[in-house]
Amino acid sequence: MNHVEYLVVGLGAMGSAALYHLTQQGVQATGIEQFEVGHGFGSSHGHSRVFRTFYDKPVYTELAMASIPLWRNLEAQSDEHLLYQTGMLCYAPPGHASLEQHIRVQASVGGSHDILSSEEVNSRYPALHIPNGNIACLTHDSGFLHAALAIRTHVAQARGGGAEVLEQTKVKGIDLTSRLPEVETDRGRYRCEHLIITAGPWAGRLLQEIDVPLTVTRQQKFYFTPQQRAPFLPEHLPVFCDYMANFYGFPYFGPGVKVADDNLGTITDPVAINRDINLETQAMLKQWLEQVMPETRWTEGEFATCMYTLTPDRDFIIDYHPAHPRVLIGAGFSGHGFKFSTLIGRILSDLAIAGRTDYPIEPFHLERFR
Ligand SMILES: Cc1cc2nc3c(=O)[nH]c(=O)nc-3n(C[C@H](O)[C@H](O)[C@H](O)COP(=O)(O)OP(=O)(O)OC[C@H]3O[C@@H](n4cnc5c(N)ncnc54)[C@H](O)[C@@H]3O)c2cc1C
Repeated sequence: MNHVEYLVVGLGAMGSAALYHLTQQGVQATGIEQFEVGHGFGSSHGHSRVFRTFYDKPVYTELAMASIPLWRNLEAQSDEHLLYQTGMLCYAPPGHASLEQHIRVQASVGGSHDILSSEEVNSRYPALHIPNGNIACLTHDSGFLHAALAIRTHVAQARGGGAEVLEQTKVKGIDLTSRLPEVETDRGRYRCEHLIITAGPWAGRLLQEIDVPLTVTRQQKFYFTPQQRAPFLPEHLPVFCDYMANFYGFPYFGPGVKVADDNLGTITDPVAINRDINLETQAMLKQWLEQVMPETRWTEGEFATCMYTLTPDRDFIIDYHPAHPRVLIGAGFSGHGFKFSTLIGRILSDLAIAGRTDYPIEPFHLERFR
């Protein structure tokens, strides 16, 4: 039996961040990952994720704002560029209930933003042509994160701080019958003082006995390349989101301009998921891109298959395990967790080490499902 102090199961966006913040707070931490760090089978892989402060609930805007200094601190420590605050432009016809609610929240928390007409958008960003008569909200603090690099950086900094990282090590079961949690892996058994479970779409399997209401959906994102890159680079283009279609796109970053459909895909299972390209979705997104940015020819590029892990209310789960006070759960990030990942890692490490956090996490407690 191995004995470790702080053990993190699952090193995707959340677990890698938790491991980093544990080491930042000076404790001995071990992370276990069933694949390699940065693998492409879960929820966190790929070049980019939207970083938005534009939300329908003030708590998320506040947490997004609170995560900015943590991202900047990680950048300063590592000398990597992770957060690109290009702004994000969200648009819809006037009176769109969701867009209006997001604007109200942005105004209520004092988030920096502009309300623009379609003409103003099209003259400020010549590459973009949003539909005539739409209104848009540009949030200045938003943009995108270099997702793959964020995970690599969290893990590299954690390793540099003394963390042990066990890759290709699968947790087969968790035993909570003793005072200290025990974890059975395919490479031996671990007893730990504190356990953090950040298993993404696999969380439901590891937490079966508490019946956490998680649904996993299959989502795909697609890259397209224009004839010329320059007009679409992050210096010239914000992240953009069409609230009517629920489609969104990024500036040119990595292998092209990435676009995705935020509508929920089919319900799946992380083991049995079909990773084949959905040509229908690709064609639909290309058609949308041709309307939004019509002044170039777009060519199909890479695609990736990914999973959302949804709670019934699409709010996160950040809480102690109801059966064991030394076990924390970070799960159900419902397709919008990445931007907060460094902060969630900080919150989980605060809860594990100090038993409390200053960040507002009441909406994420498990008791709301009881
Ligand atoms: C297509 C798509 C687009 C998205 N866009 C955005 C966006 O623009 N902005 C945003 O903020 N969020 C976005 N998200 C959501 C965000 O990416 C996720 O909320 C976040 O990545 C979840 O991270 P995680 O650590 O919970 O899960 P994961 O990254 O899946 O990590 C879980 C880890 O646990 C490991 N694991 C599981 N079980 C075991 C086991 N038994 N033993 C050992 N290891 C185990 C897995 O291998 C995995 O590495 C998007 C998600 C998808 C799918």
